[in-house]
Amino acid sequence: MSEADRPQSQPPARPFSWQSTLWQQLLRLRADQRLPHALLLTGPAGCGKARFAEALAQLMLCQRDETYPCGECKSCLLMSQGTHPDLVMVTPVERGKAIRVDQIRGLSDFIGSAAQQGGYRVVVITPADEMNVNAANALLKGLEEPGRDTLFILQSDRPGRVMPTIRSRCQQYTLGLPPFDAALDWLQQQPDCGDSAERLLRLSGGAPLRALSMARHGELARREERFQLLEQLLRRQVSAPVIAARWAKEDALEGLDWLASVTSDLIRLRIGALAPTMIRNQDALGLLEKLANLTANEKLFEFKDKIQDYRVHLMRRNNPNQQLLWEDLLIGWRALFSGQRQRPE
Ligand SMILES: [Zn+2]
Repeated sequence: MSEADRPQSQPPARPFSWQSTLWQQLLRLRADQRLPHALLLTGPAGCGKARFAEALAQLMLCQRDETYPCGECKSCLLMSQGTHPDLVMVTPVERGKAIRVDQIRGLSDFIGSAAQQGGYRVVVITPADEMNVNAANALLKGLEEPGRDTLFILQSDRPGRVMPTIRSRCQQYTLGLPPFDAALDWLQQQPDCGDSAERLLRLSGGAPLRALSMARHGELARREERFQLLEQLLRRQVSAPVIAARWAKEDALEGLDWLASVTSDLIRLRIGALAPTMIRNQDALGLLEKLANLTANEKLFEFKDKIQDYRVHLMRRNNPNQQLLWEDLLIGWRALFSGQRQRPE
């Protein structure tokens, strides 16, 4: 079958160039038949773990013994169509929700039966820190008594949140961020980044996949709008409830992370003696420098704690009212810079 005859199929995944050391290491382990039956891939968000996991899963199932999945054998063709019977990808059913116990229990038949294509069976769990306790406990059994030729590939940005009993049954490998120039080189070749590649990469803390995702979601324009609103709030040109109504419709965790990074930058600026490149929100440096002079360290630390409390609340899926969450934070934001005036003369 030629490439042109497979319009809906995906080309085989390959690890990124900056991941080749670990790739080679795992290839050697596989050649020596010493590959662990469960891997936990860790590393910062946006460093390319998902691609690495996908490429490794495909390699394990590929019927040719090559350095990368061939893309041509029967297994690779099944994978390209997303229908390989010996590969299971487990992710939360809904973004931001936990991996549920029934999703993991559903694996036991899969693990207990023979591979249909006669090779490995591979389970990829993304992100492993999003399994709830019951799901993690259900997975333990599979990890303790893996069938023959079964490989579990777990991945997580936050391995500290993966249950210790799960972690201890996996061999952990850390994927780092690429060198800045390598990441920039890759990013500039992506159709969605164009001239903004360097700016996006700095904003993403050097994580190229995160930078690409930002580009694809129109993040730069949204950031500009958000900073403008924060400034207009301080000038009392717009009210907290109006901004809150707008932000309540967006991804709350992502918004909280952004506000936390802005607050951290203000703290960094106040502490001083840092290279300007240490400031995460480079695109708002002028505003942040101005604001850093109008507040106090302890207020910033308190505000950061408040953001963190809301974050924990959200992560526990308590579903706080997001309109109220943002109103509270925006009023808190305004108070950061108004202390001097409120103090009696
Ligand atoms: Zn193949």
